[in-house]
Amino acid sequence: MTEKTLKTTPPTTRPIRRNAPAKTESVRRPVRFGGARKVASQHKTEQSPALFDSSKRPNKVRVIPLGGVEEIGRNMTLVEYGNDILIVDAGIQFPEEETPGIDFIIPNTAYLEKNKHKIRGIIISHGHMDHIGAIPYIIDKVGYPTIYTTGFSRATILRRQEEFTHMKKINVEEINPKSVLSLGQFKIKFFETAHTIPDAIGTVIGTPLGNIIYPGDFKFEIDDNGKPMHYEQYEALGKENNLALLMESTNAETPGFSVPESVVRKNLEEFIKNAKDRVIIGMFASLVERAMEVVNIAEKYDKKVVIDGYSLKNNFELVKEFGYFKPKKDTMITPEEAEKYPPSKIIAILTGSQGEKNAALMRVANKKHKYIKFQKTDTVILSSSVIPGNEKSIQNLKDNIARQGAKIIHYRVAGVHASGHACQEDLKLMLKFIKPKYLIPVHGHYFMLKINSDLAESVGMPKENIAVPMNNGVIIEMDKDKIETLKESVPANYVMVDGLGVGDVKEVVLRDRQMLSQDGIFVMITVIDSQTGKVRNSPDIISRGFVYLKESQELLRSTRQLIRKTVEEATGKMHPINMDFVKEMLREKIGKFLFQKTKRRPMVLPVMIEV
Ligand SMILES: [Zn+2]
Repeated sequence: MTEKTLKTTPPTTRPIRRNAPAKTESVRRPVRFGGARKVASQHKTEQSPALFDSSKRPNKVRVIPLGGVEEIGRNMTLVEYGNDILIVDAGIQFPEEETPGIDFIIPNTAYLEKNKHKIRGIIISHGHMDHIGAIPYIIDKVGYPTIYTTGFSRATILRRQEEFTHMKKINVEEINPKSVLSLGQFKIKFFETAHTIPDAIGTVIGTPLGNIIYPGDFKFEIDDNGKPMHYEQYEALGKENNLALLMESTNAETPGFSVPESVVRKNLEEFIKNAKDRVIIGMFASLVERAMEVVNIAEKYDKKVVIDGYSLKNNFELVKEFGYFKPKKDTMITPEEAEKYPPSKIIAILTGSQGEKNAALMRVANKKHKYIKFQKTDTVILSSSVIPGNEKSIQNLKDNIARQGAKIIHYRVAGVHASGHACQEDLKLMLKFIKPKYLIPVHGHYFMLKINSDLAESVGMPKENIAVPMNNGVIIEMDKDKIETLKESVPANYVMVDGLGVGDVKEVVLRDRQMLSQDGIFVMITVIDSQTGKVRNSPDIISRGFVYLKESQELLRSTRQLIRKTVEEATGKMHPINMDFVKEMLREKIGKFLFQKTKRRPMVLPVMIEV
């Protein structure tokens, strides 16, 4: 009985997104839903308005961002012409994944579900979670269309899909920069882009009215001669009939060109070369290419590399497995093996440069890592920027590192990090190359899109040729004469995925484990008289990893009192008793109370026995 109750009872407190990347103010808490349901949608304002009917407006190209224009992440856009819809990217909200399995948000697919018959495919620009993460959650709703993407992205998608054992097989076709596809009336080509993960690709969607160009996430890697990488293909592309450019805005606030990765590599190499002892590099899990570079440098100086961090390790396994990278046989070692080598032979790449509590770097800083401990002779390179909102946890991280005497090298002074996203000059250069008639800024908060738009104006693009999406779900329609945002829109209200409902998913297990390991579990067993709604006896409390019960008698006593009060207040006028409601109240109240008293958030499980 108990077991069954436990299984069907979601935990009280949601994991706190302690150091996750800054979230938008528009993010709402998920609605509650029980049992087997995995996805619930939350309505912003009106309840299911009649869906936009495109059939009355033929001969126009429509671009509809379903996600990614009110936030960083959740990128998903559709391009529609006549009877054909093409989807580009399908991401979740979190670009970083150091807190695997926590609740996240996916794009709303209501419009696509209604127009399933028109969907000709999904194009994926690259394998970051904010571009692929929603695939397992939306693919069945949109009728399992074929996904087209490059090798590494394909491998990443398929590897992730393995965790969703209950699903039908998805069809992912591999393309390369030279591929040409004909999907409905769309003629599709690709071009190479520079980002931070192998095989990122830009897409040219040819429509009868001209090309819609979507570079995805990009930056220009400028070489020593001042030439951007792949510039020939951009020049060639600029000669075509380019109707609209969908351009990212993530770094639209940052002046100049983005720092080329080659510069970062050089600087990292200098530090590694000159470090007398061990080098520890903290970086984002998404920077797969940089991690590969570090391994190259390590081999040059005859050092061993340890990688620790769930997502980075996974990504790294994939690049090796699929032949994108071939480190020498004995270069990569486990944290355990590292103890066998002199520290001067070791480079450790750890995730958690944002001070995420459970990430590898923080565990080392907090002396909680099983094998790696900071030493006075260590050089710690933070090869990442500060994501707004994480300042405090990063300071904390740096404090803990400094206290142990290690030397910290930070990106601002040492050029050991470069963003993978286009800065202002990159954006202008892309416009100059492509020469599109229209610009649609995407990827970012509205103010970022607006800056992107201002930039375009500053280099001569007429204001009326720019359509800045005000929010997700807007319908931007264009033909040869004009571009406009329609008054109508398609549903874009948030769709939440509750990791707990997904079943046998590794990430979920991890999440629970993280939560339990941080703050423990708190089970309260309450016997209720179903007639009177009164609590019988004193509620039983079982807890693990939360507080030492024997020393917390006072806390237990007041918790028991609060349980009784909460239950009886809830059941007072209720007949019959709605147990789910009572449990919900208990979770809420007791969770809050325990947090007030202890500053910890154990997983709170109410178990109710009716007699
Ligand atoms: Zn990316």
